Amino acid sequence: MIRDLPVADRKHVRQAALRLIRRDVPGFTATLLLNGLAAAAALISPWLLGRIIDTISAGGIIDLLAAIAVGGALLQLILSRYAEKIGTRFSERTQEHIRQELLDRVLALPAATVEHIRTGDLTARGTTDVGVVGRTLRDAAPAVLISALQALFLVAAVFLVDPLLGACGLLALAGIAAASRWYLRRARAAYLEEGAARSELAEHLAANAAGARTIEALGLQDRRTRAAERVIERSRVAQLRTLFLRGVLWPSVEVSALLPPVLVLLLGGVLLDSGQVTLGAVVSCVLYFRQLQQPIETILIWMEQLQSGGASFARIEGLQTPATQTPVAAPDPRDDLIVATGVHFAYESTDDVVTGVDLTVRPGERLAIVGPSGAGKSTLGKLLAGIDRPRLGTVTVGSVPVADLSPAQLREHVVLVTQEQHLFLGTVRDNLHLADPTADDNHLEKALAAVGADWVASLDDELGSRSSGTELGPDRVQQLALARVILADPHTVVLDEATAMLDPRTARRAERSLAAVLEGRTVIAIAHRLHTARDADRVVVMEGGRVVEVGTHDQLIAAGGVYEALWSSWHGSRP
Ligand code: ADP
Repeated sequence: MIRDLPVADRKHVRQAALRLIRRDVPGFTATLLLNGLAAAAALISPWLLGRIIDTISAGGIIDLLAAIAVGGALLQLILSRYAEKIGTRFSERTQEHIRQELLDRVLALPAATVEHIRTGDLTARGTTDVGVVGRTLRDAAPAVLISALQALFLVAAVFLVDPLLGACGLLALAGIAAASRWYLRRARAAYLEEGAARSELAEHLAANAAGARTIEALGLQDRRTRAAERVIERSRVAQLRTLFLRGVLWPSVEVSALLPPVLVLLLGGVLLDSGQVTLGAVVSCVLYFRQLQQPIETILIWMEQLQSGGASFARIEGLQTPATQTPVAAPDPRDDLIVATGVHFAYESTDDVVTGVDLTVRPGERLAIVGPSGAGKSTLGKLLAGIDRPRLGTVTVGSVPVADLSPAQLREHVVLVTQEQHLFLGTVRDNLHLADPTADDNHLEKALAAVGADWVASLDDELGSRSSGTELGPDRVQQLALARVILADPHTVVLDEATAMLDPRTARRAERSLAAVLEGRTVIAIAHRLHTARDADRVVVMEGGRVVEVGTHDQLIAAGGVYEALWSSWHGSRP
């Protein structure tokens, strides 16, 4: 079942933001303090200018006042520079932490979840969204913080100079408040939709690239193009919507921001005439309100970035698995017994393909699962290995649901080996450390020797990179995967066509490697070739999603049922 990854709600985003601040309280406090001081220093000059005017009107000397004004401007310059530097450092540290946390979360996703999420969505969150949050933290958040502080101080300063002028200026600011409220109410949903559309587009592109050959072979170009057009249209509509929101917000705020100085001038003129204020006070207030325009514009410019940053942050924070939301990890399994009870499983598009399966796999046992193609063998294998979670019923290892185990716990207990193996970019050592990060070189070399990977010259050999490293054939990739199984040292291995893709000669070698890996472990083999079944301790026969027979090879042959029929047709058709 393919699922969209969740998006964190507002409450969760707020908590996550607070958590980030709490991680770096000194950095955050220093940023806030320095920015506050810089904003306060910016208030000195306009106030002094008012005083200078009043002093000149009264015929006084202004040398000292002028010198202080210059000093104030210098102080503000120095403080702002420092504030910016400290703020940027705080942002960079926080950004690094978010990236690290995202990586940890992706790696901690249970296999059952990873199997069913859209790679495009995950990729978009790991790249575009992290980038957007990074830019927001680096540029938008400090700019908005500074501007908000400046605006606050400026309004407070106007009130201190003259409360009446302050009140009238503030009245005009109500327009900004109304426009911002209108915008903020709609922005979150709009930017989340923009992010979701972006993910779908990435998903679509990735699917087309991955399935290009199939698309060409089946002549599906037109259909895929139509689907792409629909996805692009969704993205276009989403972007137009956010553009519209900005289109309303910007002019409203710009006009509202122009009003206070105008109103103050008008009212100031009247009050000046009646002698209620001095000329200096009016000039100071007008200057303050003029200054207010700059932080308001800065906030506006960054508002979009802040909104899309918030939406991206919600998408990154949404990447919390139920397991990571509740930090209680699954308890460690008590023993090595694997028990499936009343297991049903369906894929998104199918009815149950595994139906009411009860099965106990005893430690040390070699179990073969056989049956016609499509009987549900591979699906049962994935359920037993904890890759999928049963729709109904339970699969437990040592009494703990196997799909609840963390990846680290799971690989100590059950490992699924299929023909689909991956090579990771890095050295041979990196590739092996995935299975056991604590293993020393001696262990790694022993594991390589056990699977017969004598072609590895050095653990430092680079793998998987086309430009610099060695490209490995599928048999060698498989050998590395098997060496990883030895290092993970699970008590149970589920094998599903592990050597099917290899040519017969390499397959024989791979089977020898495999034999070394299986030594002393419980083995559940999905047997596509029946000779594996003959050597097994017990054979489970599946048909139409059900287990229809269980017994040893000899018992089942004697019973003359489904297995006997499979065996004779396979035996008969052998060259
Ligand atoms: P077997 O291993 O016995 O050949 P599978 O477990 O692979 O059988 O498949 C059982 C049924 O589930 C089949 O009908 C198959 O078409 C279907 N199936 C397998 N994988 C998927 C999937 N990823 N999505 C939808 N249906 C699937």
